[in-house]
Order: sequence, then structure tokens, then C-alpha cells
Amino acid sequence: NGPVVIVGAGHAGFQLATSLRQAGFADPIHLINDEAHLPYQRPPLSKAYLKGTGGPETLMFRPQKFYADQTIDLVHDRVVSVQRDQRKVLLASGKALGYGHLVFATGARNRLLDIPNANLPAVRYLRILDDSEALRGLLGEAKRVVVIGAGFIGLEFAATARIKGLEVDVLELGARVMARAVTAEISDYFQKQHAEAGVRIHLGVQATSIEADGNKVTGVSLSDGRHIPADLVVVGVGVLPNIELAADAGLVVASGIVVDEYLLTSDPHISAIGDCALFASPRFGGTLRLESVQNATDHARCVAARLTGDVKPYDGQPWFWSDQGNDKLQIAGLTTGYDQVVLRGDPAQKAFSAFCYKEGRLVGIESVNRAGDHMFGRKLLAAGGTVDAAKAADPSFDLKSALV
Ligand code: FAD
Repeated sequence: NGPVVIVGAGHAGFQLATSLRQAGFADPIHLINDEAHLPYQRPPLSKAYLKGTGGPETLMFRPQKFYADQTIDLVHDRVVSVQRDQRKVLLASGKALGYGHLVFATGARNRLLDIPNANLPAVRYLRILDDSEALRGLLGEAKRVVVIGAGFIGLEFAATARIKGLEVDVLELGARVMARAVTAEISDYFQKQHAEAGVRIHLGVQATSIEADGNKVTGVSLSDGRHIPADLVVVGVGVLPNIELAADAGLVVASGIVVDEYLLTSDPHISAIGDCALFASPRFGGTLRLESVQNATDHARCVAARLTGDVKPYDGQPWFWSDQGNDKLQIAGLTTGYDQVVLRGDPAQKAFSAFCYKEGRLVGIESVNRAGDHMFGRKLLAAGGTVDAAKAADPSFDLKSALV
């Protein structure tokens, strides 16, 4: 085999190193980490960590000792180029590392806002631990925040900022919140919950410039001519996959590093996993690039298995969650391309699920405060099953009976 070099120590990179050792991989593992912390969990950055008081150590997957015990060489450095002909990577420090197999687990970075004054210090993003740390401090100082983008991260941040007592305005270009990711039923519910909490959501508008007095943010101007005062702006307008290193190495990239159903690039010695990978999916047809912990860790397990002799295509079942205020949203399956939605439970009771169907077959379930429906969906979809829409909508129908 030879050494495995993993570029990036986020959810995917950390899991790959760990799973390789669990599967008995005995050759060197170099896990290259360009962040200033031990590998850590990202989801709490916009949830519990942002709200709480715990230190960075509460986010770490494992303490430093783990890497020594597992003989995982955790390298604090950045890969700056890949020399495929010599099977080695060059690091920013000037060092070089040879590989038997190379894995891109480079993740994604924030899409930056390109409007006047977007580079002021009180215009913030949320991707890495340092971002969350800074925002935790700013939440204690700021009075009015404008959140640009009503996706998961923007709304999670908005809910927390409101709980902390800030005035919160959310700007969204689309006609509803989280429009690219969830059904209208779920968007409507969350819109209402945020509004009840006192968050003002403005749909169908664009931020055209950040207004400032010197270096100090004073507000945001909108495409409809309005101006919203603010002393803090948080931007959540999506991410861009980190594909440049792979592209520079001559690998095929598109809206991600292109890999086949085994998560292999066009070079048999190089794989790509997690947020950066655009993978062929026999289960869903075509190619997918997903941004979730499930995707990153299941990709990692699939590649670890392949590198230790258990070769099989990636066939993970997508799932995701988002915590906003007191509500927990959980998604099982891929709820895109559906043509029918039925509700189980009652939005007015703050507990319901949207069962999504395509041509009569269940493709996914979006649940609000109904963990049982979510777990049912994960089991059923993983087994390739479906449940009749009328039965799903019938509260007296026992979902478990659809599992057998
Ligand atoms: P990342 O975790 O982004 O890790 C990639 C790492 O590679 C980074 O540390 C990066 O700095 C490093 N890197 C890049 N280039 C190089 C290089 N050249 N050399 C060395 N290192 C490099 N998902 C969920 O499922 N549920 C959630 O609730 C959820 N909440 C989220 C909240 C926030 C605030 C964020 C930002 C994301 C959230 N996600 C959530 C998404 C989830 O965190 C990502 O899908 C996951 O982190 C992807 O893992 P990854 O390893 O592919 O990428």
C-alpha cells in the first residue's frame, strides 16, 4: 500500500484516518491539517458552541494523545501542490511527503459577498472555529445584526442572535427560507417560528451595499431601496468546494473534484471525499456533491474499506439536521425532485414530518421535532423501501409495520 496522505483534517479527513486504523491499516498515515486547532466538529459552530460558554476543547474529536496512540501523523501544515508523477505532495513549510494513496478531503470555503464594504471587520462569515469564537464575542457587543442568506447557517445564527437579545433582520433573495434544501411546508413552518421569536425575515431582496461610518458598519442597503440599520453583518450565502489543488494537479474537476462511484479520481492513486467531492451515484443517478457530516464520514468509511481490501461502491443514505431555536429539523434521504408531499403530525403542535414522494415512491422525510419519523426514514430508505403516502399521512398507521 504505502503511506496514505490525507489533505484536510475536517470531518472527512479525521474519519478516514480513524477508520483506516480501525480496519487494521498498518502503513503510515499523514493527516494534513491547515487549521490552528486539533480536528474538531463543525456543526456546533452555528449551534451549541455559538450559544454556550465551553472552550474549543469541547469541539475536538479526540485529544492530541489519540493521534500518537493511533500512529496518525497529524501535520500542522498546508498542501500547496501535488506532484502526481512522483507521488508526492509539497507542503507550505517546504517539506515533501510521498504517498501510496492520496485523498483530497479539502472541504469547502465560504462564498464571499461581493458588494461595497463587505470587507469591514464587522462583516462576518461562519465556517471555522475562529469564526464562531469571534462571533461569540460580537454577540455580546452588537445590538443589531443583519444576516445575509436564509440557509441553514444563516438561520441557525439568527435564532441564536435573537436568543442573545439582538435585533435580527434576515435577507433572502429567494421566495422562501432554505428554498434549495427543504419543501415549502418546512420553509413556512420555520419562517413562522423565526418571526414569532422576533426575527424579521425579508424575502425576495438582495443586499446591495454595506453602509459604514469609517470602519464601523452602520447598516445594509437593499435592492428595493430600503436601508436596515446594523452594527454587525453575518453572511451565509453558501460555499465553494476547495478544488483548486486537484485542478492544478491535472485532475478532472467540475462543481467538485470528480470521482467515480468508488470515490476515485481519474488517477487510481487519488481519491476525494466529503464536501469537495462530486461523486457518481448509482443509487440516485448522475453526480452529487453534498455538504453534510453524514456524507463526509460515510465517504471516509468507504475509502478506508477500499484501501484495506473491501472494495465496494459508495452507497450511503443521506441524512442531515439543523437546530434553529427550539426546533430540530432532521432530513432523511434526498428531498429533491419530489412530486408529492404529505404531512404526518401537525405543524401547529410543532411536531410534524413532510414525506416526499417521486412517482409514488418515498424519496425523503423532513421532520420537525419528530425523531422517530426521521429514524424510520433512514432505516426504510437504506433498505430501499417505501411507504404508501396515504398511510404515512394517517396518524393511526404504525410506521414500524412498513419496515418489515
Ligand atoms: P471540512 O470539514 O470543511 O474540512 C476540510 C478541511 O480541509 C478544512 O479544515 C480545511 O481548512 C482543510 N484544507 C483545505 N485545503 C487544505 C490544504 N491544501 N492543506 C491542508 N488542509 C486543507 N452538516 C450537517 O450534517 N449537519 C449540521 O448541522 C451542519 N452544520 C454546520 C454548521 C456550520 C457552521 C458549518 C460550517 C457546516 C455545517 N455542516 C453541517 C456541514 C458539515 O460541517 C460539512 O459538510 C463537513 O464539515 C464536511 O467535512 P469535510 O471534511 O468534507 O470538510
